[in-house]
Amino acid sequence: MKAGFLATLAGVIGMGLTGGCTPMKPADQADSIFVGGDIVTVNDAQPAAEALAVKDGKILAVGARAPIEKSHKGAATQVVDLGGKTLMPSFIDAHSHYIQSLTVANQCKVYAPPAGPGKDVEAIVAALKQFADEKKVPKGELIQCYGYDENVMPDGRQLNRDDLDKALPDNPVIVGHVSMHGGVLNSMALKKYDYSAKTKTPPAGVIVRKPGTNEPYGLIMETAYLPVFAALPKPTHEQEVDWSRAGQMLYAEAGITLAQEGATHAADLEVMQRATAAGANIIDVVAYPFFTDLEKIVAANPVTGWGKYDKHLKIGGVKITADGSPQGRTAYFTTPYLTGGPGGEKNWRGEPTMPQDTLDKLVKQVYDMNVPLLVHTNGDAAIDMLLKAYEFARAGDFSKPWNVTTIHTQFLRTDQIPKFVQYKIRPSFYTLHTFYFAAAHTKNRGAAQAAYVSPMRDAIDAGLRPTNHTDFYVAPLDQMFMMWSAVNRVSREGGVLGPDQRITPLEALKSQTIWAAEQYDEQASRGSLEAGKLADLVILDKNPLKVEPMAIKDIKVMETIKEGRTIYRAP
Ligand SMILES: [Zn+2]
Repeated sequence: MKAGFLATLAGVIGMGLTGGCTPMKPADQADSIFVGGDIVTVNDAQPAAEALAVKDGKILAVGARAPIEKSHKGAATQVVDLGGKTLMPSFIDAHSHYIQSLTVANQCKVYAPPAGPGKDVEAIVAALKQFADEKKVPKGELIQCYGYDENVMPDGRQLNRDDLDKALPDNPVIVGHVSMHGGVLNSMALKKYDYSAKTKTPPAGVIVRKPGTNEPYGLIMETAYLPVFAALPKPTHEQEVDWSRAGQMLYAEAGITLAQEGATHAADLEVMQRATAAGANIIDVVAYPFFTDLEKIVAANPVTGWGKYDKHLKIGGVKITADGSPQGRTAYFTTPYLTGGPGGEKNWRGEPTMPQDTLDKLVKQVYDMNVPLLVHTNGDAAIDMLLKAYEFARAGDFSKPWNVTTIHTQFLRTDQIPKFVQYKIRPSFYTLHTFYFAAAHTKNRGAAQAAYVSPMRDAIDAGLRPTNHTDFYVAPLDQMFMMWSAVNRVSREGGVLGPDQRITPLEALKSQTIWAAEQYDEQASRGSLEAGKLADLVILDKNPLKVEPMAIKDIKVMETIKEGRTIYRAP
């Protein structure tokens, strides 16, 4: 009551001082007005603006500066000068694994450049030591890193236990592999998880041995790593809030205000719900229960409650996986891999996660639940299977709207695109592979298929509104780098993979904002700068629609604003 009265008074006085003749109604007085830089609205009806007014966490007005200040600037209004920087709608994460952020927020990052410092063994060790010093990690406590990629080490010189022992002899250390399927352990960690010269390498596992000995040399992968994976520390109930906040800050730093938990297991959902109830959420989080845990999650969370936020957490729909990954040669194709199977199989096309009739039933189950569906599909045969399952679920009736998104959709065939258009299925692409895996895809699938990976240009030209994603933490949360990859399709080696599938910066921006909002059925409340939508904003140091396309990746997130409140400011 009192605050309302004061705001009214301030509004009246404000108008008096600025010479208005009628007092400004409190409902018209903005909390803040942004001016002094480019405002990119991602709204085709009004693509640019001079000023944006915010009130009560929502956008009050967007447009020319003079009328907005006249109608909405009161005594209590804060005028924010962008100082030449660019204001845009914040990014919407179209697919990532939010739950992983809870743990990686407490780990050091050793991705290879440009995503991180891990250019060689020395740089990784230095990053690790700096992390241990800064965090003042006590002796004996486990130190974890993520993002190690041995493929990019100069001269093939690999990280080993001796490198880690020298730097941190008093702590168990695990440097996680970028694939999430393994890691390099130091001597204390090898001992802690019971690896020794006597440990036999399990089938489909990797234990790298020190040359000339049987001693584990650090890198443990695949099935051999599973015991470590299972024993990795999880947050205690007391840590859940802090860890959730730290994870969400990784998204906020990247300019994201909606994060996806893209394959939610029952136990993870419980963590998220406990943290939510304790007020942990800084941004919005949308969980997609994984098909393996569907019954359990539905039993505890009736479907009638899905699709609505409760303290910034929403259950968005169901996630199904239909195949594996093309770089791991587990994606399912109609034609063989040129390099055979991961186990040396000949005439290998990969394998589906489940047979067609199982997928049919599962997809129909989700259709009958009347909730959105995400389906992981990479190879063209997996996409064929999904289309069949979709037809099975629909049984000839395509009238009811149904929100379906294919996740990755990397090896979509030209002839499959019209089906996506007809069925209104949204492809979510993964253009970062044009940078990270150009060489692997060309080797495994041939130049023509590799050049057509994540064909955003053709999808958009056909009338689809695709999204684009990082799949964090498989790739880093870097929306500008992702946008750069969609616009340029430049590979790590420096070539251009499929130049005719490049899209414009504005299209790339839409795939991370307004089109991503549609994926969550939230286009009415977010994804562009329009009056009435949430004041979820990001301030960038440069305008991605104006810089040279190759410079998009160098644009910095300066500030992230969630419902009118600054949640991240660049140091
Ligand atoms: Zn994923």
